[in-house]
Amino acid sequence: MRKFFIAGNWKMNYSISETVEFCRQFRVKGLNNISSDIVLFPPSISIQAMIKTLEDTPVKVGGQNIHQEFSGAFTGEISAEMLYDSGSEFVLIGHSERRQYFNETDEIVNKKLKIALKSNLTPVVCIGESLDQRESGKTEDVILRQIKEGFKDISETEMEKVVIAYEPIWAIGTGLTATPEQAQEIHNIIRNTIVEDFSPQLGKNLRILYGGSAKVKNAEILLSEKDIDGLLIGGASLKVNDFYEIIKIAEKLTKK
Ligand code: PEP
Repeated sequence: MRKFFIAGNWKMNYSISETVEFCRQFRVKGLNNISSDIVLFPPSISIQAMIKTLEDTPVKVGGQNIHQEFSGAFTGEISAEMLYDSGSEFVLIGHSERRQYFNETDEIVNKKLKIALKSNLTPVVCIGESLDQRESGKTEDVILRQIKEGFKDISETEMEKVVIAYEPIWAIGTGLTATPEQAQEIHNIIRNTIVEDFSPQLGKNLRILYGGSAKVKNAEILLSEKDIDGLLIGGASLKVNDFYEIIKIAEKLTKK
């Protein structure tokens, strides 16, 4: 059985001191017997404070972005090696906000993915369609293109490390959630594509997260779908009680 993966994308929220406060409250709730993978993605400036405050808990930390080159004259950017050196084990790649506001194309996503893998980071690659694309019946084409271009020249061994997050853009931060059936349909397409492009074993083991207004109220129905292996949570991950409740739901389903 695939282990659940519950992740929180904090985007550009919380200062270092607010991060430490969140983590203190989070750890007193009791994190040690959690069997799901839990990863938080704070702004990079707070990564080390988060790691320190969550020391000796199973919670892992990731960065929200890296540059596609190893190093150089890219003022303001952070490289994959720097992120790894900060203690991060994960990185988000191709989040729709980066595709939309920072012009990240599938080609850039592919470069970032390669450099993340070379730097020992576990990439969580985000894909998903816009409302226009969904309404004009192009969802499947968009997903297939993002997989084909985003995972170009990635070997099966490298792919074993990758986590995919399906995040329909129209559901991110809007309060609109894909129905479990809508999400399951796309997760199934993603898994089948990975089976065809790589191998049945890889497809079986691949973890596919759903993201888009996931919250306490809908976590159970989403996580109960066959091909939904976890959640990438924005807004609700900023509330320590809600994030913890969602983790408890994943734990309850694991024990079923
Ligand atoms: C996200 O930022 O990846 C996300 C899914 O946000 P939200 O849960 O707020 O829709």
